[in-house]
Amino acid sequence: MSIRTGIVDAVGNTPLIELRGPSEITGCRILGKAEFLNPGQSVKDRAALFIIKDAIARGTLRPGGTIVEGTAGNTGIGLALVGNALGFRSVIVIPETQSQEKKDMLRLAGAELVEVPAVPYANPNNYVKVSGRLAEQLAATNPNGAIWANQFDNVANRQAHIETTGPEIWEQTGGRVDGFICAVGTGGTLAGTGIALKERNPGVTIGLADPMGAALFSYYTTGELKSSGTSITEGIGQGRITENLKGAPIDVAFQIPDEEALPVCFDLLENEGLCLGGSSGVNVAGAVRLARQLGPGHTVVTVLCDYGTRYQSKMYNPEFLRSRNLPVPGWLERTPSVRA
Ligand code: PMP
Repeated sequence: MSIRTGIVDAVGNTPLIELRGPSEITGCRILGKAEFLNPGQSVKDRAALFIIKDAIARGTLRPGGTIVEGTAGNTGIGLALVGNALGFRSVIVIPETQSQEKKDMLRLAGAELVEVPAVPYANPNNYVKVSGRLAEQLAATNPNGAIWANQFDNVANRQAHIETTGPEIWEQTGGRVDGFICAVGTGGTLAGTGIALKERNPGVTIGLADPMGAALFSYYTTGELKSSGTSITEGIGQGRITENLKGAPIDVAFQIPDEEALPVCFDLLENEGLCLGGSSGVNVAGAVRLARQLGPGHTVVTVLCDYGTRYQSKMYNPEFLRSRNLPVPGWLERTPSVRA
């Protein structure tokens, strides 16, 4: 446990936690990479750091410069915190549908927040496209310049997982890993970790856990980008093949409805003390499906993407769950029985 040089040095090297319940029901060893323990409480700190380091190395991000990004929140939090540590400002464009907790955290981190209506990628007012235009404007007018982080198509994102997440999992398991699975937002985590693991052992099965409303399950099973259904999960669910996803070594794909993913989160919190966001539920549910496919005795690794307090007003709020016709766990409704 060495002393770290600032938060930048504290990104990554997260623990791999054995998940008791999911392991017991499958007869496999299901391990979760505890990315919620990063300084910004999500897996996206890794991508944020690599994107910033890459832009500095290229000379596009200069002292006092501004980082502009369109994000569901977590990448923005990573960029803002790393930006603070290294002397950059951040301007974050976020769809207004994302959780209040993430918006509050972005403001707390000093990011300038631009909220836009949630519209599909094809619409020129989509948050990603708005952030790209804003970056161009700021680059032209800011004396210290500005960059567009462009997490979806900037492969410095997946490079973070090729160089850190994948090798960490390999070392932590001593190479005893049979499967890796996670959901896709940009695709950086799945493609990067998948590439790194396949490089070390081509026999590792790489799986996609896709939420409802995304088009990738259909793409990897039929070749057609087609979406159906909806999901309350945030930060995942992609409708196109991003640059980060291109060539991802995906062997199997599963579609995970919220009705399957959310109880996984509720159980992990109630029984194992793990407080996680909805994408982690999709990932662990996907790991259970992959473990069942591989059979007992295998080791399957997945990603615990972010911390659950980020969604207290949504997936951990009985009223919100009821409004979406989603299951409410008993303990969430319970009133305290012990009073001082
Ligand atoms: N889970 C959460 C909570 C996220 O914010 C993101 C990133 N948008 C992901 C999963 C997906 O990660 P990636 O962008 O590497 O595909």
